[in-house]
Amino acid sequence: MKTVQAGSSSGGARAQLAAPSPDVMAEVERLLAGRTRDVHLTGELRRLFHQRSWPQTAKIIRSWMAWMAILNVLMLAVSFVTLPRAVTAAMLLPASTLLLVAVALLFIWRNPHPYWLQRSALAVGMFLILLSVALLGFNAGGEFYERYLDVMLFVAITGIIIFSVPLPWTILIAAAAVGLYVVFQFQNPAISIWSAVNGALFFASGIIATVVARRTMTILAQKAFLLELRDRKRVADLAKANQRLEHLARTDPLTGAANRRWMKEILDDLWVRCKATPAGAALLMCDLDDFKNLNDHLGHAEGDRCLVEVARVIKGCLRQDQDRMARYGGEEFLVVLPATGERDALEVAERIRMAVEAAGLCNPTSRVSPSVTLSIGVAVKAPGAGNVSPEQLQRQADAALYLAKQAGRNQVVVHRPVVPAPLPTPGETDVPTRQNPPSGPRCEDIPATRDALPFP
Ligand code: GH3
Ligand code: MG
Ligand code: MG
Repeated sequence: MKTVQAGSSSGGARAQLAAPSPDVMAEVERLLAGRTRDVHLTGELRRLFHQRSWPQTAKIIRSWMAWMAILNVLMLAVSFVTLPRAVTAAMLLPASTLLLVAVALLFIWRNPHPYWLQRSALAVGMFLILLSVALLGFNAGGEFYERYLDVMLFVAITGIIIFSVPLPWTILIAAAAVGLYVVFQFQNPAISIWSAVNGALFFASGIIATVVARRTMTILAQKAFLLELRDRKRVADLAKANQRLEHLARTDPLTGAANRRWMKEILDDLWVRCKATPAGAALLMCDLDDFKNLNDHLGHAEGDRCLVEVARVIKGCLRQDQDRMARYGGEEFLVVLPATGERDALEVAERIRMAVEAAGLCNPTSRVSPSVTLSIGVAVKAPGAGNVSPEQLQRQADAALYLAKQAGRNQVVVHRPVVPAPLPTPGETDVPTRQNPPSGPRCEDIPATRDALPFP
């Protein structure tokens, strides 16, 4: 049995509408492609529409009932003051009935109830309210007879117009109003039968026009709902496409690792955070040894497979929640180790070097080893160190890597700050890189070979 969340917020209903099924969306597109007047919601779509519009509908019905109750009490009070006691007394019973029914409906539409109960309650309640209004005139008699029948029609028309309920319910209310009008007019001793017929036809056509207007409003509301569903779907599709584009723009398609652009963002972000909590960081610039030879002898495809495997091995050596790795260039990988000192950075670098060597990937014509090896340059930004930018640290790691290559490859070298000589010559303190090699053997970078370093 369906229950209607009359009291639930529209926000909740919206959350449930987040992702209608593809079948529902196909139906949405079909309906939107047709004429507006042919919009007719069925099945799941109708259920979703009711779910979406119900909180607002219930709120309007509750407000209407509250106003009916208040106007009824006011009307009775004015009658009590201005009309003879006998007339007021005759009005008391229908007015009390109206008050009770309006208040009961107000409460029924306040909390969630089974669908059938709310529907029946509205139909029966509206009939009783209209009947009460008609009886007010009937009991009071005289000029009040005709007046209250008109008031009853007015009450019915306001309900039909503002209750955004399914068409059959609207028709039920309209039929009750016209039926009551006809029955009471034909009993009206003050008018002739033809005058009653005339009045009934006139008001019936007015009620029918109101029902048609209500139907048009419902169709427009349903079309707005369909457009909303389509917009939501398009926005969700767009968000997904953007996410995918962003992922593509930031990752290396071969290894799936971050690319240089993403690494720049990571480093910039880390440096901003470092300013707030200065914890230092280390960079490892890793470069495969004699990789060109591997490509030349085993082919480019094998070289690609090797890069994928090396990326996997390096990643396996890192703290998954903190450290980040990027494919920085062709066969170069840059690793950033946040909040890491020199000793730990060297340990990680050596672990990576050994793991790649132990992976046993073939590089038969390498000058270093028959299996793939790499050299690593390490640069460390000590906690609270001055204004070392990410670019400067990368240049330092690059310089250390250059020395690792110079020293024979397959090793880790750490960059240490240059201590200025007593009489420095111009340009001597420039950091050497592979693009800007040093002119002489004066660099303070320390080759940290397997023998030289205290690694296990
Ligand atoms: P070194 O030990 O001095 O680093 O020597 P190397 O041969 O590794 O260095 P070099 O920079 O001379 O060569 C890098 C090679 O990496 C050149 C290029 O063929 C290869 N390479 C770059 N990108 C890719 C790629 O995406 N796939 C493959 N298979 N090879 C690549
Ligand atoms: Mg290389
Ligand atoms: Mg290279």
